[in-house]
Amino acid sequence: MIIIMKPDASEEQINHVTDKLKKLGFGVHLSKGIERTVIGAIGDKRLLASENIEVLPGVSEIVPISKPYKLVSREFKPDNTVIKVSDKVSVGSGEPLAIIAGPCSVESKEQIIEIARAVKEAGATMLRGGAYKPRTSPYSFQGLGEEGLKHLGLAKKETGLPIVTECMDARDLPAIVKVADIVQIGARNMQNFVLLKEVGKIKKPVLLKRGPGSTIKELLMSAEYILSEGNRNVMLCERGIKTLETGTRNTLDLSAVPVIKELSHLPVVVDPSHGVGLWKYVPSMTLASVAAGADGLIIEVHTHPDEALSDGPQSLTPDNFKKLMKEIKKVASSIGRKM
Ligand code: PEP
Ligand code: MN
Repeated sequence: MIIIMKPDASEEQINHVTDKLKKLGFGVHLSKGIERTVIGAIGDKRLLASENIEVLPGVSEIVPISKPYKLVSREFKPDNTVIKVSDKVSVGSGEPLAIIAGPCSVESKEQIIEIARAVKEAGATMLRGGAYKPRTSPYSFQGLGEEGLKHLGLAKKETGLPIVTECMDARDLPAIVKVADIVQIGARNMQNFVLLKEVGKIKKPVLLKRGPGSTIKELLMSAEYILSEGNRNVMLCERGIKTLETGTRNTLDLSAVPVIKELSHLPVVVDPSHGVGLWKYVPSMTLASVAAGADGLIIEVHTHPDEALSDGPQSLTPDNFKKLMKEIKKVASSIGRKM
């Protein structure tokens, strides 16, 4: 349930309500919006049977949230969440579009630095690159691991671009958070609840990708795992789902953007590269994602896609990425979106 405080509720009144709820055994989450403070109380509402929370000073109303996700819901937090990644980069509505670009995998120091420079020059605001790769075959390139993280650290030093990189195993988290500005949870791990709880305890923002066979509601419940552990900085990523279509690697479900925006306050990032799996379809779906209202994009770029150790067929060359950036700017400005 959520307890909506009156607009003029004092700090003391808010503290009084939260203390009372905690004493009753509720998990309490505070959300201070522009107009009002909302207190989320997670627990068995029968505990309140003999309490009169609604008459406490400063309380406006009590609204039960029947949905299985609560902290991620719009009811809990009507204002859009804006996630500050660095001094220069924030992700969320009203902020400049976040453009995360880079290779699928970090392959060498030279490769990641060359691509980092190229995407920065084209206007990307963050660098992506996997050091730990979730591959369908155990015989495919699995990523450089800690060495890859080191290379990402150098690329960040070189370009100043914040780093987005995937964590597949909680045991790697301490090393990953030293380099990553955003920790990616890949589509295959969307329902790895143990891992979700672990990234819920870190201080870095999380990019949570939608599982290829998961509904939007399941994605929101996975995000709830992270928020309920204390980490409120989660962005949700649509990256294509499995359908009967074979013309593309996945089917990019762009309707997820407005649906998530209605149901949740969290920022939405679209990954058109994994969504379609073929570089030539990436530009049109990128532009469609911007038009649909995405807060950010994550796009795979490689200087030699035909030699890439993973996802070459869906990677744009730096030249094609540069052209696409110009188109993104046009679509963004036509819908009043900053770049
Ligand atoms: C990736 O970003 O390279 C990746 C493996 O993505 P996904 O988890 O969406 O397949
Ligand atoms: Mn990839």
